[in-house]
Amino acid sequence: MIYDAAIVGSGPAGLSAAIVLKMRGKSIIWFGSGDMSQKIEKSAKISNYPGLGTVSGHELNNRFKEHIKELDLEINDRLVTTISNTGNRFMLLANNDVFEAKTLLLATGVVAAKEFPGEAEYLGRGVSYCATCDGFFYKGKTVAVYCANSSYLPEVSYLAGVADKVYLFSPDRNISVKEANVEIQQAGFAGIQGDKKVEAVELNNGEKISVDGVFILRNAISPAKLLPGLEMDGPHITVNRQLQTNIKGCYAAGDITGRPYQITKGVGEGNVAAHEILEYLASEAAESK
Ligand SMILES: Cc1cc2nc3c(=O)[nH]c(=O)nc-3n(C[C@H](O)[C@H](O)[C@H](O)COP(=O)(O)OP(=O)(O)OC[C@H]3O[C@@H](n4cnc5c(N)ncnc54)[C@H](O)[C@@H]3O)c2cc1C
Repeated sequence: MIYDAAIVGSGPAGLSAAIVLKMRGKSIIWFGSGDMSQKIEKSAKISNYPGLGTVSGHELNNRFKEHIKELDLEINDRLVTTISNTGNRFMLLANNDVFEAKTLLLATGVVAAKEFPGEAEYLGRGVSYCATCDGFFYKGKTVAVYCANSSYLPEVSYLAGVADKVYLFSPDRNISVKEANVEIQQAGFAGIQGDKKVEAVELNNGEKISVDGVFILRNAISPAKLLPGLEMDGPHITVNRQLQTNIKGCYAAGDITGRPYQITKGVGEGNVAAHEILEYLASEAAESK
């Protein structure tokens, strides 16, 4: 199936766009977290959302979830790890499955995580963001995994079943695994080294471990890595007032387009982007007649 629109991000910007597109009868595939926005969930008090007075982030997130149910919208709870643009289509890779859409909205929020040294350099040359997509290539080999939190443990288990040895790094000191070939490292993950491809990981105690591949499992992938060729301004995607990016058919909304980082800005931009997507789809349909 080719969807009218793919939305990446389940915060207020993605939600606002999904509402418009759904109400206008468009087919959408919407990726994000079943928890919607972790940022909102964490906010103790939100007092600047018109009409709601003061609510907790948890309460607002729950209202968002109710709205989704009411409209029969569905979030595909997967991390999109790669997007390619084939001219007039977007192909999105999420957990080994490929989804195709005519338009794309990036509403990923800002990427707070800092890249590790070597991460960008060796991406696709031993560095991967998706264990179930690329783990197969490391059958019988040694890999390192940086795991931002325990929600990625199923991917670590998958790697343990394929690779000979897995070195696990995590900022979560309580992380634990059942698999005997997974060795949890107490030292921090400091970077990736290699030549033509990954050869080792560097620890923050100065040690090195030889590995064949590195998996970085965190819920933040820079949009420029997701979709090569996307024009960025620092951590933000460059957009015009129509929320169009430099790639035809690709729009962006919310924190990822720049400051202020505010819920209402995300909601407004998601709405504008969705209307622009509707116009784009209409003009494409007219051209193809
Ligand atoms: C502690 C805190 C308090 C705040 N308080 C307020 C406040 O009181 N008022 C206010 O207006 N704003 C507040 N903010 C800011 C507000 O939360 C953000 O501006 C808003 O959430 C941005 O919405 P967004 O849709 O752009 O992105 P986000 O809310 O960040 O949502 C993006 C979503 O996309 C998902 N995602 C990202 N990449 C991918 C991918 N590759 N594949 C699949 N899914 C992906 C993420 O998991 C995330 O769920 C607060 C922020 C924080 C951190």
